[in-house]
Amino acid sequence: MNKITNHLPTAELQRLDAAHHMHPFTDANGLAQKGARVITSAKGVWLRDSEGNKIIDGMAGLWCVNIGYGRTELGDVAKRQMDELSYYNTFFQTTHVPAIALAAKIAELAPGDLNHVFFAGSGSEANDTNIRLVRRYWQVKGQPEKRVIIARKNGYHGSTMGGGSLGGMSPIHAHGGKIDGIVHIDQPDWWSEGGDMTPEDFGLARAQALETAINEIGVDKVAAFIGEPIQGAGGVIVPPSTYWPEIQRICDKYGILLIADEVITGFGRTGNWFGSQTFGIKPHIMTIAKGLSSGYQPIGGSIISDEVFNVVAEGGELYHGYTYSGHPVAAAVALENLRIIQEEGVVEHVRNVAHPYLAERWAALTDHPMVGEAKLVGLMGSIALTPNKATRAKFASEAGTVGYKVRERCFANNLIMRHVGDRMIIAPPLVITPSEIDVLIERAKKSLDEGYAAIKAEGLFVAG
Ligand SMILES: *Cc1c(COP(=O)(O)O)cnc(C)c1O
Repeated sequence: MNKITNHLPTAELQRLDAAHHMHPFTDANGLAQKGARVITSAKGVWLRDSEGNKIIDGMAGLWCVNIGYGRTELGDVAKRQMDELSYYNTFFQTTHVPAIALAAKIAELAPGDLNHVFFAGSGSEANDTNIRLVRRYWQVKGQPEKRVIIARKNGYHGSTMGGGSLGGMSPIHAHGGKIDGIVHIDQPDWWSEGGDMTPEDFGLARAQALETAINEIGVDKVAAFIGEPIQGAGGVIVPPSTYWPEIQRICDKYGILLIADEVITGFGRTGNWFGSQTFGIKPHIMTIAKGLSSGYQPIGGSIISDEVFNVVAEGGELYHGYTYSGHPVAAAVALENLRIIQEEGVVEHVRNVAHPYLAERWAALTDHPMVGEAKLVGLMGSIALTPNKATRAKFASEAGTVGYKVRERCFANNLIMRHVGDRMIIAPPLVITPSEIDVLIERAKKSLDEGYAAIKAEGLFVAG
């Protein structure tokens, strides 16, 4: 029988993994040497590995397991849906109940006139849809030369060629290039790039870079601006309070479309249903994925305003779609996930319980000699590691050297906390309880202490 069980010895699983499974965002040879950690089961905020370790997941998988692991209702729904209608497409004038019900539910939850949903299989695919949508919008309006999309350096919008091009991560561009017509402006990262400016002045200046770019490119060539309300993969960069209002003003003034990439910030992560509500953004399009299904099924999409939808519809058929757009099983599971979030008050739990409880403890991490700033919006947080808090200095070692050492200690202490360069980041399941937050903080402190000791011992605690 061709069945892989969780009961093979870990070394054997690691050998098969290295021999046949090519991992995303991974140095394959490094992995083959060390062996991957094999995760075997999960419940709530807890992961189990093949060695029996019980790990607290401070990252909700990849920012996606909003309702926590192991909710059997989703499996029940998936089975029922598979038995009833395992697959049908939504091309060529056909539809099915799960896609209809999920689209209607998303339209109900989304703010303003965001009333139309185009489904994709992931966040990357949804952003590819968005590139086509905004360019098509201006074509139908008789301005086909408006096709440039302005995005931010160190933004993340996925890893397809379209999504990776919208993203502003140069290592990704270096592997295979990027598509044309995308321009990147500087990010609103005050800690690293704000110099002597106040956060507020810096936020304004970085937003005004959008206006400068529009004028340089020519407003007759610009289709849209895209940004994550809070940059996630870039290091949980929370923009200064002045940033988004100024971006909104500029998009309104020049009449360019605003895309909010809500793949992480959607579905409760920031203490509202959408990050756009937390920051007062009024987007024409939202990208969604991750928390839409809490990762129980792969599904993403674009939520589109009446205005954009109507213009694109006027143009006749849109030559775009995925075999699995609105997949019935994924849609049914996502719908059940949204039911749980809504009926169990998960967004309110973030806002009224988990965030306030974590916020105090997270902020107190700045008492640690190596922690400069601590940021937390809803349940999305970061801390900046620095050898000198007063000057916000960077380490002399290559960016990420120190962060990686702390992450290694987290790994050893059964805490999933990632590093982006020398920032440590968390985004736990939204259902995390105060006592679980205590465990997370206790392990984070222990890891910081051990990391700090190692970094000092190795002579790395020096400013660059
Ligand atoms: C994860 C992510 C994506 C890409 O989603 P995938 O499902 O991995 O394709 C896009 N945008 C943001 C903001 C993300 O965090």
